[in-house]
Amino acid sequence: MALVSSVSLSFVTQFKTKPLIVCAPGRINFIGEHVDYNEGFVLPAAIDREMVFAIGKSGHDRCNVYSHDLEEGVSFSIHDLNSGETWVNYLMGVLDGFERRGLPVHGVDCVFGGNIPLGAGLSSSAALCCGFAFAVNQLFKCKLSKLELAKIAQYAEHEFAGLQCGIMDQYASLFGVKGAALLLDCRALTHEVVPVDLKEHSILLIDTKVKHSLAATAYNDRREACEEGVRILHKKNPSVNSLRDVSTTVLYENQDALGDEVFIRCLFVVEEMKRTQLGAGMLRKNDVKAFGELMYQTHWGLSQSYEVSCAELDFLVSLAEEDKKWIVGSRMMGGGFGGCTLNIIDNSYVKVFQEKVLHQYLATFKKEPDFYLVNLADGVRIGS
Ligand code: ADP
Ligand code: MG
Repeated sequence: MALVSSVSLSFVTQFKTKPLIVCAPGRINFIGEHVDYNEGFVLPAAIDREMVFAIGKSGHDRCNVYSHDLEEGVSFSIHDLNSGETWVNYLMGVLDGFERRGLPVHGVDCVFGGNIPLGAGLSSSAALCCGFAFAVNQLFKCKLSKLELAKIAQYAEHEFAGLQCGIMDQYASLFGVKGAALLLDCRALTHEVVPVDLKEHSILLIDTKVKHSLAATAYNDRREACEEGVRILHKKNPSVNSLRDVSTTVLYENQDALGDEVFIRCLFVVEEMKRTQLGAGMLRKNDVKAFGELMYQTHWGLSQSYEVSCAELDFLVSLAEEDKKWIVGSRMMGGGFGGCTLNIIDNSYVKVFQEKVLHQYLATFKKEPDFYLVNLADGVRIGS
């Protein structure tokens, strides 16, 4: 509530009218990493950290947008959507997505701010794009479905932020369900709701506070390695159109043709797709321990085979592994090279573990990590 109040107060002070309020959550992903752009299954959930938008029509073709958190305002014409390199790009990308669909959007006044840490792998950028897209859709009565909004938000990341991301983050931010994860089929773009009951466990995120500058390049490189694998396998068997169509047996049979690097990347992805379906079944049965074991497997696959981890993430997961009795699962989450680890931890051990991590992480990396306890929340919604 405090967030909604301060963002709307800032809007009313600047624009003197009553805004539409929209709230857009960040997300976690239980399992299924680097799988969305390979048309597999993923298991994300929206969380109770969100971005709040106060928005109204400007009545002309200029947009006046203000970041409450960065205390920075920008004004631009809806006819000139190419900007500098900041957060404005995401908003412009969304508007461009509407225009390209021939939809009648005009200028907006908007103030936004939130409590999703920036660049920590909780998809503050997807919340920014999805919340803004949802709000623009409402204001101009465009009647786009949530799936179309997710595609526009993804387009903004691709074309205006240079990240060739899959659709998981946007989908989770829009479709999230309180107390549940979504088993999302990234080929069909449909999902099943998987209720999550972690019993006596909590979801603890530990933020390494690192973000390597090469993260976006490395992400795009991994995606290319997967596409290269598909190209090679498609030549041999035209029914292979994505790694979703490939088994580990096929990968081993074609190891030489794929070459070492492409083989190892593709193998990780195909194994991760299997883990996700297995993991969803375990969560459905409330088998938290077995599910946690899969998370550890995912982590070391991401670290050693997909090579998207970093020293800080590996350090945090190793610390968790020492206390497996209480931390049933731990893994890096998101694109990699920084951001958060996701830990499923016994409630009674949260405080003890935080102290242990704080002490050891500080001693090793000379900086303090951040801790976020999160709950699973609904997707983008109109606020009040
Ligand atoms: P993530 O999505 O994991 O949080 P990204 O690097 O993809 O990290 O997105 C972070 C970017 O999104 C920021 O650099 C900024 O441009 C934009 N952003 C996110 N949250 C905010 C915010 N509260 N205010 C302004 N810009 C934001
Ligand atoms: Mg992002």
